[in-house]
Amino acid sequence: MKKLMAANWKMYKTWDEARDTAEALVKLTAPALSDDREVLVFPPFTALKGVADIVAGQKGFFVGGQDFYSAEEGAFTGEISPGMLEDAGASYGLTGHSERRHILGEDDAYIGQKTAYGLANGLNVILCVGEKIEERKGGSVEAVLERQIRAGVKDVPTDIAPNRLSIAYEPVWAIGTGEVAGPREIEDAHAFVRKILISVFGKKANEMRILYGGSVKPANCSEIIALDNVDGVLVGGASLDGESFSQIALA
Ligand code: PEP
Repeated sequence: MKKLMAANWKMYKTWDEARDTAEALVKLTAPALSDDREVLVFPPFTALKGVADIVAGQKGFFVGGQDFYSAEEGAFTGEISPGMLEDAGASYGLTGHSERRHILGEDDAYIGQKTAYGLANGLNVILCVGEKIEERKGGSVEAVLERQIRAGVKDVPTDIAPNRLSIAYEPVWAIGTGEVAGPREIEDAHAFVRKILISVFGKKANEMRILYGGSVKPANCSEIIALDNVDGVLVGGASLDGESFSQIALA
């Protein structure tokens, strides 16, 4: 299974900034990227097509949309469809990111609807899950992860190709805080995510990628990526700089 090294640029970067970062990333990463790695960038929508054009033709590079709505087109002001993302060069979509759950108020059912719709309409989807600090302290990590995963994949056909659906385990308390989860916490959570995926999709869930996200940096990435059941990383802050994310992608 190829490791997926994903950059989430969130609501950062003008087009000029996005272009410079994408060009630096390709220049520093493409010549050294091994066959068992893939690089995925989630730019803001305004830079998606431009970044897709920059990475086009680079082996192992992909672009994705940070969000999408579950309709093909229509009177949905402010929204964007999977088809529009694909038209701009995206092959991936993100669902369930903690900022969409906890700042924008998306619930499990809505996230599940988007996940199934994106997959049915040609996107590969990364479904993000993760507990808040009070849930970890209260001993409910597994209950939270199980609820978020089961709701998130509820309408995904069980015959889905395993490389089309990934889970990103992102403990909310580790996102953008500099506080990375410990190796044991990551391995325990990822093993549990794998167990739930197997219970839903059967043995082929062993081929679904489980990414870790939460304060990944060049200095900690090689240790994290080597852990059991860690099939990639989803990186926010440290992906905003081309050199920094290149070091992560090649770690
Ligand atoms: C994220 O945005 O998904 C994320 C993990 O952010 P950071 O790397 O900044 O913690």
